[in-house]
Amino acid sequence: MKEILSLEHVSFTYASEDEQESRKALDHISFTIKEGEWIAIVGHNGSGKSTLAKLIIGLLFPSEGTIRVFLEELGEENLWEIRSQMGIVFQNPDNQFVGSTVQDDVAFALENNGVPFEEMVPRVHSALAQVKMESFLDHEPHHLSGGQKQRVAIAGALALEPELLILDEATSMLDPQGRDEVIKVVEELKRKTGLTVLSITHDLEEVLLADRVIVMNQGKVLAIGSPAEIFERGDELEAIGLDLPFSMKLSSYLRDEGIDLNGNHMSEEELVNELWTSYFNK
Ligand code: ADP
Ligand code: MG
Repeated sequence: MKEILSLEHVSFTYASEDEQESRKALDHISFTIKEGEWIAIVGHNGSGKSTLAKLIIGLLFPSEGTIRVFLEELGEENLWEIRSQMGIVFQNPDNQFVGSTVQDDVAFALENNGVPFEEMVPRVHSALAQVKMESFLDHEPHHLSGGQKQRVAIAGALALEPELLILDEATSMLDPQGRDEVIKVVEELKRKTGLTVLSITHDLEEVLLADRVIVMNQGKVLAIGSPAEIFERGDELEAIGLDLPFSMKLSSYLRDEGIDLNGNHMSEEELVNELWTSYFNK
């Protein structure tokens, strides 16, 4: 499988007036992402997740270490070319619109990238269809719900046909319904197109859907593994201030209450199944 992104011992320190104050926002981060993977990055506020996203899209440059995107070392000279192959969606649905209608908004980035008009129209339609917003072409963005706005923002990124889609807490300001809509759209994209996704989140339920999880703490990588491997270390996750998925909390509570359950239950379905088969059938 093709390598999409790799970081080797990447560190970053924000410049500070007071030298004593400056500490590393990122401290020797290394990991690799392969084509088609869905990677979730989790960590509490201030653990360095957004700084990491900014380094990957070249808004900031590492103080130490190297970042390779599509096998090329990211630097000032190839920044624009590399950036044109990445899409990023940020946290606040209200800060990502430039167009006065949904279709203008999605077309904007294409226009900036010099895509000819005849090509723009089908690309805008297809990107909006992929996020199930095709019937909103002429709607004004500010009349949409939060989940719809983020789906349009994702369409804007998709219209550029990126190799890598980065979501920086793209669901964190949404209500549960909006969050579900966005997650379903990303899941379907991944299944149908094999798009590589890097999703920064502090929603551990969302993490369950990823192929691999990177846990950040105080600018360092605390752990990398499959969701199952990561959630086996539930106590450590709680110790660094992360909220475990509901089914895991419930199964640990039931165990504390003397109910004989095996293992960790990452989904409600798993927990319900075990309760049926091993408990109620006794
Ligand atoms: P996260 O996205 O995980 O919440 P950030 O990457 O935003 O974390 O922040 C990591 C650390 O860098 C924090 O200590 C934060 O205060 C600091 N930081 C973030 N942005 C800036 C900035 N523009 N200037 C100085 N320090 C910053
Ligand atoms: Mg952040």
